[in-house]
Amino acid sequence: MKIGVVGCTGRMGRMVVAEITGTGGCELAGGTESAGHPKLGEDVSTVAGLAASGLKVSDDPAALFSASDAVIDFTVPEATLHHAGLAADSSTALVAGTTGMGDEQVSALGRAAARAPIVLAPNFSAGVNLLLGLTEQVAGVLGEDFDIEIVEMHHKHKVDAPSGTALGLGEAAAKGRGVGLNQVADRGRDGITGERQPGRIGFAALRGGDVVGEHTVVFAGAGERIELTHKAASRVIFARGAVRAALWTEGRPAGLYSMMDVLGFGS
Ligand code: NAD
Repeated sequence: MKIGVVGCTGRMGRMVVAEITGTGGCELAGGTESAGHPKLGEDVSTVAGLAASGLKVSDDPAALFSASDAVIDFTVPEATLHHAGLAADSSTALVAGTTGMGDEQVSALGRAAARAPIVLAPNFSAGVNLLLGLTEQVAGVLGEDFDIEIVEMHHKHKVDAPSGTALGLGEAAAKGRGVGLNQVADRGRDGITGERQPGRIGFAALRGGDVVGEHTVVFAGAGERIELTHKAASRVIFARGAVRAALWTEGRPAGLYSMMDVLGFGS
């Protein structure tokens, strides 16, 4: 299977290039970067710290989609939307890990998925996807006597907050309670905000250093507290999951899929 990488010189892009190169059953189709990027024309594999492959970093994503069976995208929301259009036009699978997309952008991605298989996941690690399932289950069992707070910490370069994974965990908790997250989310508190309202789901985002990604879902009751935590020690888990998702798309019909579907945890 030929897999392309858009945003191939980014932190995740380089990891994905290395993961494709080291995984059986697939080969690197090429990589792109944004127009005017300083690494355009360099060898995609050399940039990822590997031996040269002869594939040059290009700024022509349409050509990459034509040359690929699947494309992996860890870039920025506007770019991912553009790539979803190219996936639809070329019937090429897209594996999208970009976070920070608004509701309208996710809907647009869903429309593109009518014409190509698209796997959209705020987190490609198997452990986090297990945590999503556990969070939904525990929230459903405990009910509103337990206050839910979601705490996450990431490295200082992260641009969106709360993290896409934290929001995904919030959605899982809200689903477990049979409510919509938008109706109950407190996405940060400051100042004198009054007593905590029952049923709310709170978020806190910490940023600093080189933390790869840590998420804790706190269920705080009267006299006891349950905490479910996942700590990512290396970005490799996300790259590995994304390549697994790309391989999984082979022969799939068009549609919007999640990492839960890929891992077989799908509801
Ligand atoms: P990064 O800034 O290191 O890399 C992003 C890359 O995308 C950059 O190289 C940038 O030049 C490139 N890019 C921007 N616009 C482009 C365009 N139009 N065409 C091609 N390339 C373009 O960031 P990162 O740490 O690699 O993270 C990227 C995204 O992935 C973020 O949204 C992050 O939150 C998300 N992420 C998701 C997961 C997951 O498991 N889903 C894991 C880690 C990071």
